[in-house]
Amino acid sequence: MELNVGDSFECPEGHNARIVWLSEDKKVVAVRCSHEHLSKVLKVVKHPESTPSYRNQSREERKIFLKNLVFVIKV
Ligand SMILES: [Zn+2]
Repeated sequence: MELNVGDSFECPEGHNARIVWLSEDKKVVAVRCSHEHLSKVLKVVKHPESTPSYRNQSREERKIFLKNLVFVIKV
């Protein structure tokens, strides 16, 4: 399959992304995806000092998403 810069290509998370770079031997491509990707989930402890026991601490999950990631993929 012939790949060219500007072609659509599936990002590792299955979105429809676009090729922004090709290696000379066309074995490596870089694709940029404008969709959101879950980077990590942080567990944030709210007001730890005002909470008397560890068990009652309220925790909140904060998800971090990244957009416009560039993936380098071997093809
Ligand atoms: Zn994606």
